[in-house]
Amino acid sequence: MSAHSNIAFFIPHMGCENLCSFCNQNVISGKDLAPTFEEVRKVCDVQYKRMSPNQRKNTQIAFFGGSFTAINRKLMVGYLDCVSEYVGNGGFFGVRVSTRPDCIDDEILDILQSRFVNSIELGAQSMDDCVLKKNLRGHTSFDTERACSKILDRGIELGLQIMVGLPGQSAWSVFETANKIIRIFPKTIRIYPTVVFRGTLLEKWYNSGQYRPLGLDEGVDLCSKLLELFNKNNIKVIRLGLHSQKDIEKEMVAGIYHPSFRELCESRIYLKKLKNILKNCESGLYKILVNGSEISKVVGHKRSNVLNLRDSGYFLKVVGDDSVAVGDLVLL
Ligand code: SF4
Repeated sequence: MSAHSNIAFFIPHMGCENLCSFCNQNVISGKDLAPTFEEVRKVCDVQYKRMSPNQRKNTQIAFFGGSFTAINRKLMVGYLDCVSEYVGNGGFFGVRVSTRPDCIDDEILDILQSRFVNSIELGAQSMDDCVLKKNLRGHTSFDTERACSKILDRGIELGLQIMVGLPGQSAWSVFETANKIIRIFPKTIRIYPTVVFRGTLLEKWYNSGQYRPLGLDEGVDLCSKLLELFNKNNIKVIRLGLHSQKDIEKEMVAGIYHPSFRELCESRIYLKKLKNILKNCESGLYKILVNGSEISKVVGHKRSNVLNLRDSGYFLKVVGDDSVAVGDLVLL
């Protein structure tokens, strides 16, 4: 079982002694300062009172951003103690934290488990040691594998985050990472195409011509294939692309950021399916039945799929029919 919603607190950069090439954590988390204990308690209290026991049962308290298990120990335990009183016994489902793979060991896991942490997300970013080294991650793929196995052995829900389009990372390396992750079998994954933020090492590499970010189309192509691969292997992709935030657009210099990035990737998967079912058909007008919730993805952003196929002589009329399963297409 896992929760459907989060009460999220961002703990930006605190405790992290690294400076990964791409990281400007204060921008990514959207906050410059971590919340105080009092603020955390207050938010939990308000949400606890607002929600029914059933809603609370489906809600996790989440500490995102930075490296939660690397912050000052007293502070980490303090945060967990603040929220513990709202978990269990008719309260929230549990606590979720995100951290670095090399900041997980048995002692930390004992502390987390004794304080209701039942999901951990690790920023793996890549399982290719050359890519990790080039981007100054400060940990290896072995650290990730070891941390994952410790987390899974304890029955804690595991989530992983990976990045696409990093310096030194080929498409081959991305799929090698995906295959290693499939073998680890986390419950969830977040996929982040690389964005170049102001004030990062990546910005310097970009400005000096040492780094070329992926274009949007390349990113959509790669990430749509990853999405298909993880879906096929029952690993839930819970995020594709950075959250939409005004600070991101202000602070980004280059790279892939689109507020509907996931939808672009899902549309690309449909384009592939459309081409596949039409491949033996003569050009002409066709009616395609799809689940009503999927029409816009099948049609594509700004009708891109329909226009793409029109260039090949196929004129599509996409019609919603909820008897068609999500993901399927019926050609008439
Ligand atoms: S480990 Fe995380 S918080 Fe630390 S520098 Fe790297 S990306 Fe930023």
